[in-house]
Amino acid sequence: MKSLVIVGGAGRMGQALGEGLSALDQFTLLALVDDHQPAELFGAAYASSLDEVDPTKVDVVINFSSPKGVVSSAKWCGENGVALVIGTTGLSTEQRRVVEEAATRTGVVMASNFSIGAVLSERFAAMAAPYFERAEIIELHHDRKVDAPSGTSISTATTIANARRGSGLVPLRDLTTRHTIDGARGADAADGVKVHSVRLPGLVAHQEILFGSAGEGLTIRHDSFDRQSFVHGVALAAIAIDASAKFLEGIASLIP
Ligand code: NAD
Repeated sequence: MKSLVIVGGAGRMGQALGEGLSALDQFTLLALVDDHQPAELFGAAYASSLDEVDPTKVDVVINFSSPKGVVSSAKWCGENGVALVIGTTGLSTEQRRVVEEAATRTGVVMASNFSIGAVLSERFAAMAAPYFERAEIIELHHDRKVDAPSGTSISTATTIANARRGSGLVPLRDLTTRHTIDGARGADAADGVKVHSVRLPGLVAHQEILFGSAGEGLTIRHDSFDRQSFVHGVALAAIAIDASAKFLEGIASLIP
């Protein structure tokens, strides 16, 4: 049985993971770490910082907090030889470098989307990419999400661009020449694959991958209706990782 600590434990994801992971036989939930007191503790202790937690009692730290929170967790896990699972998105290049440094000292899994359906939809997008002339992504999230575009959409756009490049296709070129309003054509996330971000109350995490060619279209849509959709993927990552130095990006390899 693995002993877990959730950093960001008072947040929307922290609370959903606390509920989901504490119900699984493979885990004991040791502590929820957060600047704020969590609404529910799910049998765990509350700590305002990882420095209040005894590292010898922790197998895996799960971080769904903020990029700054990831930096503190990565340093603490690297120094103490504790495995780390990161779901937090929006890291800068420098913050990511700190994570990579930690992964030279302990095991780290970092994924922009832990839901199984989202991972599969990215896999299907890679299959379709070489067969369509154009591809664009619409990602839709709740209105409290602080970063845009979503980490998932950047990862999906990169996957599509890589699949196109691997098939000898050139980067996509936007033929729109007149932008009546700036931003109307979205953001170029990878080799001309455009991403459009929607933020609305009531949404959780959704993504449409649209492919188009002469006379046909293909849409791959994934919906996370509830944050419990991320529990299974986080559990797979927490089971797979240990304190041996390793950096696993994405959970695709954990879903055969
Ligand atoms: P949230 O704002 O509801 O919760 C974040 C929590 O982290 C808050 O309670 C906050 O107090 C705490 N926090 C922030 N910085 C901290 C620090 N330095 N130390 C301790 N606690 C700190 O946000 P959320 O909706 O739960 O999302 C959290 C992160 O997870 C975001 O980056 C989001 O994009 C990401 N996310 C990833 C996935 C995925 O599958 N990878 C899925 C959903 C959300």
